Amino acid sequence: MKNKENNNIYFWQESIWAQLAGAWEQQRMPHGLLLAGPAGLGKNRFARVLAGFVMCREDRSARRPCGQCKGCALMAAGSHPDFRWVSVPEDRKTIGIEQARDIVNWMRLTSFLAGYKVVVIDDADLVTREAANSLLKTLEEPAGASLLMLVSKRPHGLLATIRSRCQLLRFTRPGHEAALQWLKTQDSSADWPRLLFLAGGAPLRALAMHRDGFADLDRQFSADLSAIIGGSKDPVAVSAVWEKQPSSVWLEWLQTVVLGMIRARAAGTAKIEECEPVHLIQGAVNINLARLYHYLDDLVAARQRSERGGLRADLMTAAMLIPWACGLNYRSIYQEE
Ligand SMILES: [Zn+2]
Repeated sequence: MKNKENNNIYFWQESIWAQLAGAWEQQRMPHGLLLAGPAGLGKNRFARVLAGFVMCREDRSARRPCGQCKGCALMAAGSHPDFRWVSVPEDRKTIGIEQARDIVNWMRLTSFLAGYKVVVIDDADLVTREAANSLLKTLEEPAGASLLMLVSKRPHGLLATIRSRCQLLRFTRPGHEAALQWLKTQDSSADWPRLLFLAGGAPLRALAMHRDGFADLDRQFSADLSAIIGGSKDPVAVSAVWEKQPSSVWLEWLQTVVLGMIRARAAGTAKIEECEPVHLIQGAVNINLARLYHYLDDLVAARQRSERGGLRADLMTAAMLIPWACGLNYRSIYQEE
């Protein structure tokens, strides 16, 4: 069952799949594909299934890998000699020139099973400039039956010359109701509307959050923020608790919640409490919209700073929580530099 599941794409990817299966049937499969879109939409799974489809030795009129033949068996075992999966090494932050040269040379070799050669590069925006220039050769002069798939959450981070030589496949979030329905089939007990909201609409992120027990953290954050707004908790005391979490976790949570508040206002919801995603934050209804925007700018700046590692975690946590004690009426600490 597990294998069968791993061998299939997600329902929100069907139209992209149909497009490629059509190209395959007309023998017009591109040599380079760029799988772009936010995290949590299953781009890696899609790349793996497509690689399996291309490697399948059987009749592919059903538009899926057969799961039985030698090609499919080797793919399932992770030992197909004509398939490579490339990602950032654990001790590095980028995909460098050695890895790129290795791929380029490997692509030039004749296929072991007299079929396609397929390479997937995950987080392709983390390929260095030098490495990207090396890969460009593979895209400009593709060797025989070959397919290079670049997977990226930040496609604008790729070299323009690389991007322009790949067919862009844009992965988008499924509709809200359809996503909720699918999530319910994964686990009927979770608070999926809330988790899907926190996951920015990406079903697999919502699923991962659920499995990581993020709902408990969400409840704690929500209760703390409500208490700060209501004046029953000291923001500095709360920040001492929050800073035990990686700053990326609570910064992203705050940003999602503030965006939800702004959206609720923009949609003309009379009471923020009535708006499902942010109903847990008591007292948020009284906060002025302009101040929410102002605070959102600071959050974005704080996230950028935190990614660069330029701020002391304890100071940043307090700085982002104290404004809630005064209805976000405060002077920005980030914007006047
Ligand atoms: Zn097969």
